[in-house]
Amino acid sequence: MRLKAAIFVLLISWAPLFAQPKVVALKNGSSTAYIGGFVDLNHVYVSVDDIAQGLGLQTFVLQSTGKLSVYSRYGSLLFTPNNNFIMVSVGTETKMYQLPLPVLSADGKLYMPAEYAGLYFSRILREVLTYDEKKTEFSISQIDTSSPEIVDVRGTEKANGAVIEISMQSLPRAYAATIAQGNMLYLTLMPAVANIRRMNSLPPTGVYSNIIAIQNPNSVQLSFKLKQNYISSQVMMDSTSNSVIVSLYSQVDVKKILSDEIKKKLEKEKNNWKLGVIVIDPGHGGKDPGAIGVLGTEEKNVTLAIAKDLKKDLNRILPDVKVVLTRDKDVFVPLDERGEIANKVGGKLFISIHCNSMPTKPNPSHGVETYFLRPGKTNEAIRIAAQENAAIKYENDYEKKYKSYDADNMILTTMAHSAYVKYSEQLAELIEKDVSRVANLADNGVSQAGFYVLIGASMPAVLVETGYLSNIREERFLRSRIGQQEIARGLTDAIVQYRAEYEKNFAEN
Ligand SMILES: [Zn+2]
Repeated sequence: MRLKAAIFVLLISWAPLFAQPKVVALKNGSSTAYIGGFVDLNHVYVSVDDIAQGLGLQTFVLQSTGKLSVYSRYGSLLFTPNNNFIMVSVGTETKMYQLPLPVLSADGKLYMPAEYAGLYFSRILREVLTYDEKKTEFSISQIDTSSPEIVDVRGTEKANGAVIEISMQSLPRAYAATIAQGNMLYLTLMPAVANIRRMNSLPPTGVYSNIIAIQNPNSVQLSFKLKQNYISSQVMMDSTSNSVIVSLYSQVDVKKILSDEIKKKLEKEKNNWKLGVIVIDPGHGGKDPGAIGVLGTEEKNVTLAIAKDLKKDLNRILPDVKVVLTRDKDVFVPLDERGEIANKVGGKLFISIHCNSMPTKPNPSHGVETYFLRPGKTNEAIRIAAQENAAIKYENDYEKKYKSYDADNMILTTMAHSAYVKYSEQLAELIEKDVSRVANLADNGVSQAGFYVLIGASMPAVLVETGYLSNIREERFLRSRIGQQEIARGLTDAIVQYRAEYEKNFAEN
């Protein structure tokens, strides 16, 4: 009470024009100190001495100049009467800072704008002093030292602008970035702690001339004085390097960046839709012979021969297309690995080659069938799927590995494939038609079934049953070089036509 009265008297006696006396509370835990001050042209000025006392800091006035020093264990502040500059010394670093409003002198005491007091006093404290303009009061809060610390700041000039990278112990939860007056970047990271002294003494770079770091209880504000003007910024968190990356764009270059990006994207999309890699999967192999014909022909040998012929044909007719075989010799390849191979090489098409067979042989059933992935619908499709899927029993841990492919999951997996279903169906139709035509075999049509081998391939995928080994006439044809070459030629015709339609389709879209 006595303090208030004293200040009131003092202010009346000093009384700059229009100034209204004002007392501001400084809350430090449960105790409150009162800071004398006044309001001048909407700005609250507070006594530097009173704040120092409220914070338990030493002060010293040099009588000859009226300069006031405030000392803490960590550093000091030097205020000059009627002057905008404050000298801040922390450790061995000393820097001058300019306030937008001058420090005022009245009756031998110095007053500074309250809104900047927190900022400067906090620099020589291990706590944070904040001024709440609405409540017109100061409060002290502890820094949340569990927050991630800023480790380093780097600026790099780019042809299109600049990049500022802030390395942290771990990423903050939130950030805010603003560019003001073209050449000031304000970046707030939360939660975060910074070694303010180190931050403020980081050397200038080609991008910024200095950084001012402000520690708030659980956030850090970094103000960068930029060497050039920028019009926009973009912040990205990079979790691999724990960095906050701020991209700064200059006016001239924004259009170029955008057009470069669009160009790149279009180029990528164009390449994406190019039928650049075709994966041919010869069914079975190694310890898995597949179906055995009436005359003892093994499916794995027929499928490999057709696949090799097909590759030769495609290399000749479509020299710009890469053709990859999931196996090129008599080896066992697990079903799931076949799809993985296709994905790894960036396949745009997956064709699995097989031969059909009936449980009882010889058998009159004959002809070509082509499948694309969907849970089996007809009994015939289910039978063939079960037969081809049986190859998994040659894999040691198949029960565990394929457990997820039960009926319900099959539907989900199929839905994931739905983007390709249209193309798979188109290709299946072409293959069915061309193979039966060229090889002069019966056209049994296209069906949908759940083949494990097709599940893993993330691309249009089909499975063709090129004829029946349980039918002696077709077995003879399938084991002959002429038969294998004709089937390969039918497949080539289908692929060439598919590619033309596929690429036309995407060129139009
Ligand atoms: Zn097969």
